[in-house]
Amino acid sequence: MAAEMGLSIDAPAIVDPDRHAWDWEADLVIVGFGGAGIAAAVEALEAGLSVIAVDRFEGGGSTAVNGGVFYAGGGTSVQIEAGESDDPQAMLDYLRIEAGEVVADETLRRFVAESPQTIDWLRRHGAPFEGSVWRAKCSYPPLDHFLYHSDNSLVADYVARAKPAARGHRVYKTNGGKAWGLGAGITDPLTRAALDAGLQLHRFAEAHQLVRDAAGQVVGVNVHAMPAGDDALPRLVHHCRRAEAWLATLPPSLPFASLTMARSRHHQRKAAAIEARRRVPRSIRARYGVLLSTGGFVTNSRMLARFAPKYRDAMPNATLGEQGAGILLGMSAGGATALMDRVSGWRFINPPKAWSDAIVVNRAGRRFVDETVYGATLGEHIVERQDGRAWLIYDRTARRQAFAQARDPHIVPFQRDVTLLNLVMNYRKATSLAALGRSVGIDSAELERTVATYNRAIADDAADAFGKKRADRQPIVTPPFYAMDISVDSRFLPLPIITVGGLQVDEGTGQVRDDAGERIDGLYAAGRTAIGIASQTYVSGLSFADCVFSGRRVARAIAVLKARDGAIVQSP
Ligand SMILES: Cc1cc2nc3c(=O)[nH]c(=O)nc-3n(C[C@H](O)[C@H](O)[C@H](O)COP(=O)(O)OP(=O)(O)OC[C@H]3O[C@@H](n4cnc5c(N)ncnc54)[C@H](O)[C@@H]3O)c2cc1C
Repeated sequence: MAAEMGLSIDAPAIVDPDRHAWDWEADLVIVGFGGAGIAAAVEALEAGLSVIAVDRFEGGGSTAVNGGVFYAGGGTSVQIEAGESDDPQAMLDYLRIEAGEVVADETLRRFVAESPQTIDWLRRHGAPFEGSVWRAKCSYPPLDHFLYHSDNSLVADYVARAKPAARGHRVYKTNGGKAWGLGAGITDPLTRAALDAGLQLHRFAEAHQLVRDAAGQVVGVNVHAMPAGDDALPRLVHHCRRAEAWLATLPPSLPFASLTMARSRHHQRKAAAIEARRRVPRSIRARYGVLLSTGGFVTNSRMLARFAPKYRDAMPNATLGEQGAGILLGMSAGGATALMDRVSGWRFINPPKAWSDAIVVNRAGRRFVDETVYGATLGEHIVERQDGRAWLIYDRTARRQAFAQARDPHIVPFQRDVTLLNLVMNYRKATSLAALGRSVGIDSAELERTVATYNRAIADDAADAFGKKRADRQPIVTPPFYAMDISVDSRFLPLPIITVGGLQVDEGTGQVRDDAGERIDGLYAAGRTAIGIASQTYVSGLSFADCVFSGRRVARAIAVLKARDGAIVQSP
């Protein structure tokens, strides 16, 4: 399977752990030092475990470059400072809607109960949060606000089922006098804390094989590692950073992206050539457990095509490390997977609010959702239930408003750029709805009926067919009319995606389970390598929060094992 998926993952080696020639040894060995791995390392070291972490690149993973949104609530210190009223029951009610039965109710309760302490734990380790709340619905708050509704909680249908609260905690890094939302606001201070507490971190060390003993217990991992102090290391770092930077310069579907992609591939080839010459094999013993935390598999095009082909034309939203290595390593030891076809695609259409005040239709010319839903909910509707095709329909008034909203000082630069690009490049225009429908291939008669129904409900002050609030509806009456392509493969509005399926784990410990549901001794998984709270539905911040929750869970479970061991050794 691994070779088919383009990665060289070997079948587990079987050794006698007491005779095998190990290079390094620790209580816990962490494979993948991103969000989940870093949280696990800090928790484990503070519980008295020795820890080795290896990372394919420099560490930090997708988490360090993410938007910094961390989902938390139930009365966190940040919410209290912001005067935001929330309680654990309200958060639980809400998350039950999003998470469904992807984890046991007990696990969800634990996640919610721990949430305020998690924020305090992160703050204690130096992560900056601030209690300034942005109350309007939006996909990302203005730069000077740090708490917002990063989910569906303000959408009418959800308000009826769970008391809303702002739970998107935006952590940040300061640059040029501005506080940019960035996951490094958490990963940097936590990495420092782990190193200060004695972490052995091996950067540019790629795990390719698990090591088991004769009884099947996972007792270690084999890696290809750059030797410490190798004089080629600065060049390797340079090429890897350039490869990532070029990759992030332009979405692959935009004009000139073939040039930036080619530059990225050039640096990837240079890096691979250095690795081929310089890396050496290292065998690492894990006395109590190996944690697989290499993220999901969204940058592995072969895995995506195999498991989630509907998203082939979407835009992978991750750093190069999320290639599925951890999932494939887990599978090599018999680990079972679930929800591998589950992908979260983010179709954000507010800001500008004028867009979400308008309507979204499918090929049949019909609406299918309240357009104010959270971006990943809209993305799921489009890809999973509408065959990947959808258009935003708006009129001249909305277009003018959208241009004005793009110039609003509160809008974040990336939101402004995406809005302007799509207002200028991504539209079809016609003087009548019928002509518009014909020009984009939507059922014209049905489109006319859909718009008439939408407008009539507004004029009559009647309820919307999808429960959309009155304040979020604007009639579509002033020609010309516009259609913006928001399909899965939209050229100017690419659909950013992350994978959310992964290895099945015991929800108390994070231990990987096999097809029979049995726990595999010595093998653990966390973050997007595993099934977690965000695996049914992602809302902003939920993946990050799940990484920290699931990473710390593994560290605690291993600390219990070691404590038990100590008790046995010490007992007469
Ligand atoms: C631009 C962007 C914005 C986002 N914004 C948010 C947000 O605001 N909030 C949120 O919740 N989510 C967000 N996400 C999603 C979220 O960041 C990821 O789902 C999450 O960070 C995954 O964390 P992880 O610990 O599972 O993996 P990662 O943080 O990616 O860490 C995995 C690590 O494993 C390493 N690795 C891979 N293979 C190997 C191997 N064979 N051996 C050793 N090491 C290996 C990688 O180099 C990497 O460092 C965003 C993602 C992106 C890209």
